[in-house]
Parts: sequence; C-alpha cells; structure tokens
Amino acid sequence: MKIILPSNGRCTHSSMEMFPPKIEHLRRAADLSADPILKKNEFLEPLLKKPEQLKKITCDDRDYLFCVATSVIYSGQIAFVTECECGYKFNDKHSLDDMLLNVLNNPLSCKKVIFGVEYTFNTLLVEDEAAAAEKALIDDETYEQVLQTGIVLRTLGKELTPENYVWADTVLDLSVYLLALVYQQCQKHGLDLRKEVVCPKCHLAMESVLPITGDLLKVDMNLIMDRFKKLLAHGLDFKAFADLTLVEYNVLVQKINQK
Ligand SMILES: [Zn+2]
Repeated sequence: MKIILPSNGRCTHSSMEMFPPKIEHLRRAADLSADPILKKNEFLEPLLKKPEQLKKITCDDRDYLFCVATSVIYSGQIAFVTECECGYKFNDKHSLDDMLLNVLNNPLSCKKVIFGVEYTFNTLLVEDEAAAAEKALIDDETYEQVLQTGIVLRTLGKELTPENYVWADTVLDLSVYLLALVYQQCQKHGLDLRKEVVCPKCHLAMESVLPITGDLLKVDMNLIMDRFKKLLAHGLDFKAFADLTLVEYNVLVQKINQK
C-alpha cells in the first residue's frame, strides 16, 4: 500500500510503499531491540518496499507508518491504557479513522541568531533519533538524559561525538538547549494522538495522549497461537499461516468463529 507521509513533501520521500504486517512479523517482534525507538524502526524495515528510505524521513512520518502498521493488528483501532489521577488504570481505544492528520507546513530547518551566535535548528530524521538512541543505550541509568542531549545535538546539526556531548551539557547556553527541544515540538506532524477520556471510577474527564512506542507490538501471542491451532484444524499449514497478512488472518478467524 502506498502511504503519503505527513511531512508533506518536505523530506526526500513524500510517500512510501508498505506491505501490511504478517503474523510472522508480529511473532518476531519479541526478538527486536528492547529500545522503544529502535524497536519501531526494526519492525518497520521488513515491511517497507525500500527499507533504506526509512532513515531519511522524519520521526513523525515513521510514527505515522508505525500507527498504520500496528492498527492492522488491532483491526483499525489502537488500544492504550490511561492512568487517572485517582490511580485507576483503564483501557481505551483510538480509532485510526477518527484521528486528525496534521501535515507539516514549516520547512525542515530554520536559522536563528541567539546571543550573537547563529544556530540552525533541524527537524529530527529517523537516522538522527536512532543514532541518539544507540548512544544512550550504553547505560540504563542515564538513558533519558543522554538521549535528550543527543536529540539536542542532532537538532543543532552537530555530530554525536563525546566532545559534543560535553559541550552541549556544560558549554551550550541552557536556553538554546531547551529551544532545540521546543523546536521539535513545534515541528510536530502526523496523527493527532489526543483523545478526551473519562475515568470510569471517579468520572474525571481528561485528555489522554496515545504513546507511539514499540510497546504497541506487545500482543498476546498465546491468543494468536490458540487461534492458529483452530486454523490448523481447518487445513492451514504453518508456512501458510506465517505468510498471512493480519487482515487475512482476522477474516479467517471471523469465518471460523462463525462456523
Ligand atoms: Zn479516576
């Protein structure tokens, strides 16, 4: 399927050809990187007709592709958990059809003079974020902090060298550091992931933001394998099962359940 990217023609690629995920892709998701960012990239790569294009699109484009791919798992609806202030956790679903799509209208970069120094702010591409995540993976305890500094460096077009990390953390003006992070927020595009929800326990209304992380791939494989046994009983072999797209799989399961 051809997917038009929300970066709106501002990246090298304005659309991508993606195959719907198959059961086999989902089964392999457990073996992918535990890192929430790298996991998304690794899951998408085998689904893309030209996987090498992935690194040159924006992170929001990637999240959009990831939403489309995972929504197939959940039949067009993405399940998520909200935790209320009262401590109650409840499940809800985001329907892909109901979500608004925001396209990018700004250029991919902008120059700004701050305290007499000119900085160029760049919209994060998948390769920038992946490089920042890989550097951060070295130590669990400092992961978030190192990831954030890596994102600031790539936003400012700097290489991820040890010297530059020290520079960003000790020399770079705090306002520029924070502005780099704000810049990425201002460049947000893709699906509007906010939804008004009401806590079923205390009835507090709140806005919930759907997190697009590799955790969306955590589906109950036991349930799928249980259904597989039923499909086997209907004459489907393992190879054919592993090759099913999730859409075909859902149709088959529905048919069997109707019998
Ligand atoms: Zn509540």
